[in-house]
Amino acid sequence: HPALEQAARLIREVPDFPEPGILFRDISPLLADGEAFAAVVTALGDGLEFDVVAGVEARGFLLGAAVAHARGTGVVGLRKPGKLPEVADRVDYQLEYGSASLELPAATISAGQRVLVVDDVLATGGTLRAACELLGRAGAKVVASSVVLELTALGGRDRVDSDVQALLAV
Ligand code: 5GP
Repeated sequence: HPALEQAARLIREVPDFPEPGILFRDISPLLADGEAFAAVVTALGDGLEFDVVAGVEARGFLLGAAVAHARGTGVVGLRKPGKLPEVADRVDYQLEYGSASLELPAATISAGQRVLVVDDVLATGGTLRAACELLGRAGAKVVASSVVLELTALGGRDRVDSDVQALLAV
């Protein structure tokens, strides 16, 4: 798809962030470009039916809110700890270095809802795995986890319990 190929050119490679030896893919310039942003927002969740979008803090919020609005659904932010006034549930998980948690806001997801999870990048898969667990425990059905970019060498897709839709892969 030409618009997505064009969008891919706007992703920057930043060596040694956030740790020495890590090559970070920065999608900020892609988000800042109107045509590229429109292309990825249109493609995320394309062909799928869902009732609500769950965006992963923080870049998943930017993408998830846009996808939700385009599709006429609501949006839920899956948050890092300490931000929410009322937490429905929390999942702790391991990162390559250290650990992390995601929290589901109270009174957002109902049992039986079909949820599209949105984030910017799939790396080891720990984050999307945790997101799926959190939503599954709430009784939701994750129809897919959709990302702009999949880092295929890390094999993260195999750790995620839902289908994975990646617009671009390296
Ligand atoms: P994972 O849990 O799959 O290892 O890491 C994915 C999470 O970390 C996502 O929320 C994503 O935003 C962030 N992340 C990991 N690596 C990168 C990267 O190279 N670029 C960007 N933009 N985010 C990354």
